[in-house]
Amino acid sequence: MAKDIDWGSLDFSYRETDYSYVSMYKDGKWDEGKLTGDHTVTMSECACVLQYSQSCFEGLKAYTTEDGRIVCFRPDLNAQRMADSARRLEMPPFPEDRFVDAVREVVKANIDWVPPYGSGATLYIRPYMFGYNSVIGVKPADEYMFRILVTPVGPYFKGGAKPVVVRIPDFDRAAPHGTGGIKAGLNYAMSLHPIMEAHREGFNENMYLDPATRTKVEETGGANIIFIKDHGKTLVTPKSDSILPSITRRSICWIAENMLGMKVEHRPVLFSEVPEMEEMGLCGTAAVISPVGQINDHGRIINIPSGMDEMGPTTKKLYDTLTGIQMGRIKAPEGWIFEV
Ligand SMILES: *Cc1c(COP(=O)(O)O)cnc(C)c1O
Repeated sequence: MAKDIDWGSLDFSYRETDYSYVSMYKDGKWDEGKLTGDHTVTMSECACVLQYSQSCFEGLKAYTTEDGRIVCFRPDLNAQRMADSARRLEMPPFPEDRFVDAVREVVKANIDWVPPYGSGATLYIRPYMFGYNSVIGVKPADEYMFRILVTPVGPYFKGGAKPVVVRIPDFDRAAPHGTGGIKAGLNYAMSLHPIMEAHREGFNENMYLDPATRTKVEETGGANIIFIKDHGKTLVTPKSDSILPSITRRSICWIAENMLGMKVEHRPVLFSEVPEMEEMGLCGTAAVISPVGQINDHGRIINIPSGMDEMGPTTKKLYDTLTGIQMGRIKAPEGWIFEV
């Protein structure tokens, strides 16, 4: 029985469901893993994650398609990216095939929490792992916990996707050759101050520039950036080692090139090029694409021609195509939709 929830009024906050998934790494190997109804974690006060932030995570969603199937979008890419994150943090990667199986198992166990088609809500899936045992000298843990929690979340945009205003912050998101390219908790810890400052100043997001020269566009705290130019014919998206490789952005680029006949430029993008752009969007799992209407660079305003009222027409086409594929209204490219 589906839970008695007003799906449309959910926001993006944590709510306990029936089961989480947990697997422990000890003595050099992962155990077989299991579902648990215990939504708490008990560990040493000196656990590596608490002292040295040895942790990484992923984010994806399960939802109901138009024809009533429960699916996830490209979970194999989350598995791959989490393994990359783990290796960079000297953590043992959770096997990629087991990651996908565990996602299936935990969604199945919480099937009553998957929102119905058309509600706009989804079941957000958060795999994460961390250094578990006590470590006081600086070194990696040798015991790890991998968990997946799921929680129903509401539509990201209530009443349509309104363009946002971003500012250029005085902070950097990631160092050159640092950890910007992996999904590590530490990248978010350091973004909390800049994002709160942005909000206090009345902006929605920070648009970070490249940390070495501050001349190139990188991304926001939690979303990659796409631009549209040449009368909707070209998609431009920044390339840099310190940008997190967004699965949403990679999917959008594929759609632009292979389904909409657009040209895709994945290359370093100078901030000084931005006034040539016609549309701009922030992409990630949560919002899919969030349109940007205006950039504020220390008081200098760049208005994106698509404006502050609605998504630009090409962004809208990309958004409709991707969400159409996700919801089963448009035929998906091979391997994109993973049935639970
Ligand atoms: C998770 C994340 C994204 C979005 O990635 P998706 O795979 O599309 O959800 C973008 N930037 C950062 C910094 C992220 O952590």
